[in-house]
Amino acid sequence: MRMLTEVGERSTRPSPGRTRDATGIPDTVKNERAEERCMGKQYWRFERPEHEDYNRGFFINGTSHHPMCIPWVTCPKCDNTFSTGKTLRILCPGRVVEMLRPLGKGPLPWEQHAEFRREVDAVLRSEGHDIQVQPGDQFQPLHWEVPSRPRQDLFWASPGDIIVSEWGKSLFEEYGVGGVEFHPIVLDKIGTLEPWDEFPSEDLSDPIDLFDMVPLLDNPEDVGQFYEMLVQTYTGDMAPPQRPRPDEDPCSFCGQARNPDLSWVYEPLPLVLPKAYVPDVDIFDSHILRSSVVSDKVESLVRQHRLEQCRLSRVRIE
Ligand SMILES: [Zn+2]
Repeated sequence: MRMLTEVGERSTRPSPGRTRDATGIPDTVKNERAEERCMGKQYWRFERPEHEDYNRGFFINGTSHHPMCIPWVTCPKCDNTFSTGKTLRILCPGRVVEMLRPLGKGPLPWEQHAEFRREVDAVLRSEGHDIQVQPGDQFQPLHWEVPSRPRQDLFWASPGDIIVSEWGKSLFEEYGVGGVEFHPIVLDKIGTLEPWDEFPSEDLSDPIDLFDMVPLLDNPEDVGQFYEMLVQTYTGDMAPPQRPRPDEDPCSFCGQARNPDLSWVYEPLPLVLPKAYVPDVDIFDSHILRSSVVSDKVESLVRQHRLEQCRLSRVRIE
């Protein structure tokens, strides 16, 4: 299941200077423009297609990760570990690669993490990037492994990255789709079987084992360039921060719930969005629907050009 952790850099986050009223919705969002920008438009939830056979879905879409990632951090009081899971838009500079390699995903203790972030921020600043990294932030590029030959133009690599072909990217650009950007990815492993071929799915306890069972290309780059399609807007950044409920026993140091109730994650969702959380872009990640949402511009692009590798469901805006 796609969790909304991979979102654009924090330029979409409201700056501290913006005012909020009692509802917590920033004034800049909750205004008459919300009415105006939604008028006459339709929106659709944009998801990976359901494969009857989970292993077939993995065989076609593969798996991806950003190896260069700021370590997680541990709260000194409650021992919870944190990560934003946010994808940054910049390539990891060589000096930061050297700093990250020995640490892996961590986690690091609170104070050590703060010191580490200061050092990384200083290197990034010296290379012209004025950002403050957070625990779990992921640098470009994305790495991709697929057990079959990528024959489509749209892919949903687990755990939730959207990948497009060169042609798919040019289509989104020609249509002037607002709200996404494309970053070249690295192909680590590519299978030689076709996506419709039979593959050894029997007795497969973990689809990742497929990489030991199928033939792989000697040079994965032979299949051409692919791109991570990074959605720039996450509507959770427009909403007030979620506080743990009192019965979840929030930690007095970090504010995280000690016993978070995650049962809600699996509840089916009504496909309804308030106008205030429909930004003026053609594609965004919705914190309410916990998925990507696209405008009718993207919906018609997908249907006209037969980008079948996705599922679109109409969202009601109110
Ligand atoms: Zn804590």
